[in-house]
Amino acid sequence: MPIPRVYCLLPASHGEGVLVLLSVSTPCPGLFYATPAKDGILSRIRIPGGILNSKQCRAIASIADMYGGYVDVTNRANLQIREINQGINTEVLQQLQDLGLGSRNPMIDHIRNIMTSPTAGIDPQELIDTRPFVQAWDDYLAAHSELAGLSAKFSVCFDGGGLVSVCDRLNDILFAAVLIENHIYFRLHLGLGEKRKPPNDVGILVSPDECLFVLAALADVYLAHIDTSIKRKPRLREVINNLGCHRYLEEVEQRLPFAGKRDQKLADVVEKKTNFSHIGIHSQRQKNLFYIGVVLPLGRLKSQQIRGLADLAQKYGSGTIRLTPWQNLLITDIPQQCIVDVQSEITDLGLDFSTNNIKSALVSCSGKSGCAASATDTKAHALTLSDYIQTHVKLDSPINIHFSGCEKSCAQHHHSDIALVGVSDRNLESYHIYVGDGNSDEKFGRQLYQNVTFEEVPTLIETMLKVYKSYRCHPEESFGQFTNRYTISQLKQLFFQPLNHLRFSAVCN
Ligand code: SF4
Repeated sequence: MPIPRVYCLLPASHGEGVLVLLSVSTPCPGLFYATPAKDGILSRIRIPGGILNSKQCRAIASIADMYGGYVDVTNRANLQIREINQGINTEVLQQLQDLGLGSRNPMIDHIRNIMTSPTAGIDPQELIDTRPFVQAWDDYLAAHSELAGLSAKFSVCFDGGGLVSVCDRLNDILFAAVLIENHIYFRLHLGLGEKRKPPNDVGILVSPDECLFVLAALADVYLAHIDTSIKRKPRLREVINNLGCHRYLEEVEQRLPFAGKRDQKLADVVEKKTNFSHIGIHSQRQKNLFYIGVVLPLGRLKSQQIRGLADLAQKYGSGTIRLTPWQNLLITDIPQQCIVDVQSEITDLGLDFSTNNIKSALVSCSGKSGCAASATDTKAHALTLSDYIQTHVKLDSPINIHFSGCEKSCAQHHHSDIALVGVSDRNLESYHIYVGDGNSDEKFGRQLYQNVTFEEVPTLIETMLKVYKSYRCHPEESFGQFTNRYTISQLKQLFFQPLNHLRFSAVCN
């Protein structure tokens, strides 16, 4: 596979869409920064807030047709096009840019997508609609080319305090809405601790109209303390920890045109987890309107499915499709009387909207087919497992199962209910299996089994799920919470002798 050129279509202000070479490689893909992968060149379309209109969806479907015939929704609500042979030509790039896809300023197109709850503006319980904040930060990035010096992993998230929380997602900076004495603020959270942990509350309250100033100052302090000419930029966490959080925040405050508001009563908003509650049919805050959370098997959409969903969104709703950080999507603004028709048309597209579908919370990294580091064919294994479970276990709630081809855990960096991490054992594709929450040293949760060959995985997971259904304290107890109540040796006994009910049921309280 030849290493592709990293190309950049400069914006109109620099000339008429001129294609220039920026560098020979980049660690993070963007629409203008294609990256080699095992299955071809990988291009990532940055979609702030994950919100797309029908026209954009159709354009994406046409591009997908030119390559692998599909796109993948990522865990930052981007879209990835894979299996590209020669790079996307400049005409297509220009067309996408004209449709508002990818950044208006390619210099900052590699910076991580801006995240927010996929139900922003429609969530019945949210404190504030975060879509304008996403737009404002995206506009600010596009207008300030010097921010190209930020780490590509400089990641920002806004949570409006609604039912579908994104507070536990991995981001460098999180603004989490809270209500204090009838005023809405954002609590500032920064990634300070270990890698792969959600950001920490730093005891600062930011009023909505101060958000952009604070973000700009956070970025400016970062740039002031790094060598922008070097290729590998440090993560924000490293810069904060080198400088000390207190000093970093002091420097931020020096750049603000107002005094910062401190609140030392730290709030644990990151504990709010979504539990895939957005899948299925839900009422919006707007009267008589509903959104439908659609399950995408492993985040993959075929081009005809993208077109079909775009048509559906336009015919029954506002033409809007929202990608989620859980690699599925929402169709919004559906009047109640149209729900049955929309459900039936989603089914006709070969998709589903049920939380009981094992694929609703199944996540996999690209695995052997797309990544040279992978020990296992994670995507194929995840689909085989889900087909098996679908016919052997009747689920009544989502189970978050995560397949990774190696310890890097690209698809999902934090604990799931069940995590399978690929290992090569005597030339057999095998997995270490982890469950629930572990301590801070345990990236995937607690290790339950080692070197389980994939052939053994489906029946083992079937047993685990059946035991969970019999032994959980109440229907709302998640699989992860259930496993957290037992030691590893107790779990092994339970899963080995699932009928040993009496001995363990007393633990429930
Ligand atoms: S988790 Fe490992 S195998 Fe999977 S995509 Fe990332 S680096 Fe590749």
